[in-house]
Amino acid sequence: MFERLEALPADSLLGLIALFREDSNPQKVDLGVGVYRDEAGHTAIMSAIQKASREHMETEDSKTYIGPVGVVGFVEGIKKLVLGEQSSAIQQGHLAAIQTPGGCGALRVGSELIRRLGDELTVWVSDPTWANHVPLIQSAGLPIQSYPYFDASTGMVNFEAMDEQLAKLGPNDVVLLHGCCHNPTGADLSFEHWQRIAERANKQGFIPYVDIAYQGLGDGLEEDVKGVRYLSENIQEMVIATSCSKNFGLYRERTGALMIQTKSATEAAAIQTQIQDVARANYSMSPAYGGHLVDKVLHNDELRREWQDELNAMATRVKSLRAGLLEEINKRDIAKDFSFITQQKGMFTYLGITPEQVSELRRDYSIYMADSSRINVAGLNTQCLGYVADALKKVCG
Ligand code: PMP
Repeated sequence: MFERLEALPADSLLGLIALFREDSNPQKVDLGVGVYRDEAGHTAIMSAIQKASREHMETEDSKTYIGPVGVVGFVEGIKKLVLGEQSSAIQQGHLAAIQTPGGCGALRVGSELIRRLGDELTVWVSDPTWANHVPLIQSAGLPIQSYPYFDASTGMVNFEAMDEQLAKLGPNDVVLLHGCCHNPTGADLSFEHWQRIAERANKQGFIPYVDIAYQGLGDGLEEDVKGVRYLSENIQEMVIATSCSKNFGLYRERTGALMIQTKSATEAAAIQTQIQDVARANYSMSPAYGGHLVDKVLHNDELRREWQDELNAMATRVKSLRAGLLEEINKRDIAKDFSFITQQKGMFTYLGITPEQVSELRRDYSIYMADSSRINVAGLNTQCLGYVADALKKVCG
């Protein structure tokens, strides 16, 4: 029976990890997979998370099932982290929310909930978007289309083109937006863009579906969610998928949350049963461990301060790597204009070079990045900036 199914091609980013490992060049640079790395190339456990983990291990006295919502303190904490202490949706009880296995779990449950809203709905994603958005949404049975987003000539958002598409949408459309630190391009919407999107959503009736996986890794915890909060305060309905993989460094613990903002507390109560039902049909309930740790960090002043300081230091390191790389590039008078590197946000930048140039960098200089030329800026370090800029000069002229 199983011969009916053929082996699928290997994931290209995971393939890149294997190639990098086998490369014996001591100067090799890994700019592929999107995880935060420190100056030594290590993805360390954050210190506040380590302390929370020790405390949790000492006090946890049962592994019995947790309720369908997940760790309640975690869910309450994440709602406030994303939407703010003063959020009207929180205060009025207009939010349904559950803990999920990572941001991916939130996107999958969110997409299945949207599928339950009817046969006619389409999800619109940015061109380009994070590659995994497509299978997560499509496997929930939803059709996908894309709206114009990235302007390769400026390295920034082409908002006019995006808005032109949004103006054609209606109540059967759902628009996936990256809350901050757009993956893969690093090109973010400005606050004015978020205001225009809120206006459009109200006028056209489409539902915003916000994926926020990098809060705190752009301009700061509050600054990064200004747009999402504006949207929440100014429209009635939206879906938010959030991840603690990057900003709490919990990748393998699969920790995230799904929030659905509805028009009333009665609707929120109904939707709460629906998202729990979707989760139940998929994996029953989320793993709890990561939720316990985030709950502890968010609700202990000392741990929270420590976590925020460490997260700020991570964001600052990424920003200074952006500035450092651009400085090295500018010293070499490269034909292509890379000034967008310091304007983009978060861990990713699209270098905007050709697939041939990407292979040349890999083959001749052991610099590894996705074929699209997306680089993980956190994969750089102060020692390799000159080397990477030299290689770019060689391949770009
Ligand atoms: N959305 C985006 C845009 C991402 O980049 C990621 C992580 N790579 C996620 C969601 C979810 O990640 P996870 O499931 O690991 O929390």
